[in-house]
Amino acid sequence: MSHRPRKRFGQHFLHDPGVIARIVAAIDPRPGDRLVEIGPGSGAITADLLRCAGRLDVVELDRDLVGPLQARFAHLGELRVHQGDALKVELCALGGMYDPLRLVGNLPYNVSTPLLFRFLDQRGCVRDMHFMLQKEVVARMAAEPGGKEYGRLSVMLQVHCTVTRLFDIGPGAFTPPPKVDSSLVRLIPFGSPPWPIDDPQRFARLVADAFSQRRKTLRNALKQRFDARMFDRAGIDPGTRAEQLAPADFVRLANSG
Ligand code: SAM
Repeated sequence: MSHRPRKRFGQHFLHDPGVIARIVAAIDPRPGDRLVEIGPGSGAITADLLRCAGRLDVVELDRDLVGPLQARFAHLGELRVHQGDALKVELCALGGMYDPLRLVGNLPYNVSTPLLFRFLDQRGCVRDMHFMLQKEVVARMAAEPGGKEYGRLSVMLQVHCTVTRLFDIGPGAFTPPPKVDSSLVRLIPFGSPPWPIDDPQRFARLVADAFSQRRKTLRNALKQRFDARMFDRAGIDPGTRAEQLAPADFVRLANSG
């Protein structure tokens, strides 16, 4: 299909059959799975997903791609094409608590973090997620405490999901090739949260403040907006720096305020 890739939509289309097969194998679509593909583009992985699951919802922003998707793939199964912005999509309206969704996508890198947070907010309707993202972003998502990659994104995701970096994909697998390497990542939301958060807004603020000045001790980074007595109550040394605290410690600290 001839479609000139649009930069403003972050379009880099997968063309390497070996890479496509590896991605689909990692997703492991099964008959009846409630799959939702974000940004199918010209359908590099769409056909395999639809063939395996028998049904598929896709959400694509570019109007010019929507018609061809329907025309090319509808005969393979029950394909529902939604033209629109994945940032606005109500996932729970597509599946539900009793039929949770499997989200999949080679995400546009320019909006990947807002998309992740949007999907995370709707995690009650999501079974798992497989996304291709910029390699550095995936490294930050999956990072463990102690290193420079560990930060706000790691904590905010890991309190809600297990995050597994699966494999890397070079620029040559895409047309046009992006300037960065990519990785496939799997996120599985916890069925019941291992560390329940009392006040999600307070928690998000605390994590953001802690990492906004990551070289400072927590005592200093948090003193503007948080009561120092929370350290005692949580049993956390205020002389620690944000990158040394595990996600569970952040929850304990925020819940102790
Ligand atoms: N899945 C295709 C592939 O692997 O070849 C295309 C991937 S391309 C990196 C990203 C796709 O997401 C494009 O088709 C683009 O038009 C679409 N897209 C960009 N922003 C979007 C948004 N906010 N909501 C839905 N789709 C979007």
